[in-house]
Order: sequence, then structure tokens, then C-alpha cells
Amino acid sequence: MTVDFTVTRNTNPTSPERRAEILADPGFGKHFTDHMVRIDWHGDHVDSGEWSNAQVLPYGPLSLDPAASVFHYGQEIFEGIKAYRQADGSITTFRPEENAARLNKSAQRLVLPELPEDLFTEAIRQLVSIDADWVPSGDGESLYLRPFMISTEAFLGIRPAHEVSFFVIASPAGNYFGTPKPVDIWLSTNYARAGVGGTGEAKCGGNYAASLAAQLEGEANGCKQVIFKDPNRDDAIEELGGMNVFFVFADGKIVTPELTGTILRGITRKSIIKLAQERGHTVEERRFTLEEWRQGVASGEITEIFACGTAAVITPVGKLKAADFEISSPSGEDGGAVTMALREELVGMQTGKVEDRFGWNVKLV
Ligand SMILES: *Cc1c(COP(=O)(O)O)cnc(C)c1O
Repeated sequence: MTVDFTVTRNTNPTSPERRAEILADPGFGKHFTDHMVRIDWHGDHVDSGEWSNAQVLPYGPLSLDPAASVFHYGQEIFEGIKAYRQADGSITTFRPEENAARLNKSAQRLVLPELPEDLFTEAIRQLVSIDADWVPSGDGESLYLRPFMISTEAFLGIRPAHEVSFFVIASPAGNYFGTPKPVDIWLSTNYARAGVGGTGEAKCGGNYAASLAAQLEGEANGCKQVIFKDPNRDDAIEELGGMNVFFVFADGKIVTPELTGTILRGITRKSIIKLAQERGHTVEERRFTLEEWRQGVASGEITEIFACGTAAVITPVGKLKAADFEISSPSGEDGGAVTMALREELVGMQTGKVEDRFGWNVKLV
């Protein structure tokens, strides 16, 4: 499908000096570029409505009716994807068709309309083109893109909204893990982020809202991240609040919890499985319990643990802390050789330093 985007340039963009200042220390999700994308949808039913009014417009506040259903019933989904500056100056993104497909799976679950996959990628291309100067070129740096979809219809009756908008905003991201240190994680036993038949597999804001109490509990116990287990399957480990988790064994085997419907289908997870297999690791996607974690670290069979997601790429995991026990960190302060090698290969592929053997990079500009 071809959709023409109306482009309205920001008449008061960030000055080059200010932008340079921001890019020197972007942090994460704090600063936003000069433009955004918006596409509206209208329809009586998710299968029969129409996307229209595709625009690139100045970044700025939205005007929504206070009765807009997103504020009341939470019909909201999002994605996270990055744009990378290549050595030749061009800008690429990574596996956008995967994000587009996942957005549509999330849309199905939340009864929001599906966005044609090529329109998703085109929306990203439009924003990255106009804000290309915001794509940093430093090691491990990128422009983080946040596509999201909300229900905007002013109606308090309970049914899927008839008016919806899709947006893309962008925020420069620094190199978090230049020297990644293992993070200690908190095992949440009081809270679950997802349940069987719920929205665990959908990338929706509601899941994050549900994870915040556990996150605070973890912080109060000195942990930056929280891991959840499946409350219905005893001690099966699921994932962190916003990252999937992997366990590396001394014999080279790598285990990650299987996708049960309550775990988010991470694209980093999927990419790492492929890269690890290529490197000769046996990768098992299966039920992985707390008991196996405890025993594996105690016996020395588990040598490394890491978490992964688009924002942070790969983060080594240290200790597991819970209310009444602790499992010590299997790796040293450097996070472990397998973890670091996978991270280097993945980031290298995304930024053009390692050959893109699977055609995962898509040129945007
Ligand atoms: C986005 C997300 C991930 C990671 O997915 P990627 O596609 O690798 O970025 C993992 N878990 C949750 C809950 C998420 O929302």
C-alpha cells in the first residue's frame, strides 16, 4: 500500500548547539527529536476501518478529550526499535518487520486495528529521515524509536474504540553498557506481571503498570530489575519487567524460558537464539525453574546469566534476591565471556561492524 505523508516542519527546531549537547549525554528516554508521526484510524470494527491522515508533524503535546477511552480502559500498545548510524553515514534499523508483526499481534489482543506492516516501516522511515541529525554515531549509540497506538474515542461505554491513533516518537539513546556490570535482580513473589489468558504476550502499557509495584519492591531491596515467575506453574521463571532472560551452562548449552503466552516474544531474544546456535551453542527453549537456577549456580553448571531487550541490548545478571533467600552471581564483575561475545556480535551486526549475514538490517536513509 502507498500512503502519502503530509509533512509539517517544526518551525522552532532544537538548535544544532543544543542538539550536540543532548547527544553528548543523551541518557535514555529523556530527550525527544523535533518531529513525530501520527496516523489516524476510524471504524466500527477493527477489521473494517481505515487508516488515514498520515502525517509528520512537530513533536509536541497531544490534545485529547478527557473521555478518550485510553484514559479509562487502557487500550494502548507500543513497540521499541532503534535506528543506527552506519560508517558510510546511512541509517538503518533492525528487523522492523518483526516489530510490525508483533505490534499487530498486540493489536489483536487489545482489539485495536492492525497497521499494515509496510506502513509501520514507512512511518519509521519518515521520522528518521526528517530527524536524521538526531541519529548519533558514537559506539553503541542509537536513536530509540517508540511507535505506539492509543484509543482516542470520547466514549465511556465498554467496547473497543472506534477512533484510534498511531504515533512514532524518537529519543536519542547513549551507550549504556559500554562497560556492563551485572545487575542484581529481585524475585517478585507478591506480584505477577501477567497471567494465563491475559496480556503477557502483548506489548502493552498495562503490563508495565502491573510490574511497577514489584519494581519498587526490588529497588527497596537494592535491585535495579525484577524477575517474575509463573504463578500457575510453581517455580517456572518467566522474564524481567521488560527483558527476556538466558542461562548459560558450562557445557555451552543455553536455556531460555519457553514462550508460553505469558512471556513477551522479544526480538532480541529471537536474534540471540539464532546467533548462539550459529556459534555452536545448543539453545533450549523450555520450562526453567527456580530450583534449577539454585542448583545450577551452586554446582557451577550455570556460568552466566543475562537479560536482553532492544533498549539495553544485553545486560549481565548477577545475584538473585528474594524475601527469604539469595542465589549468588555465577559470573564475575565482567559479566562472562559468552554474554559479552553475543552482545558484541549483535551490536556489531546492527552497526555494520559485523557482516549482516541474515539480512536483518533495513536501510532507512
Ligand atoms: C519489549 C519487551 C521485551 C524485549 O523485547 P525486544 O523485542 O527484544 O526489545 C521483553 N519483555 C517485555 C515485557 C517487553 O515489553
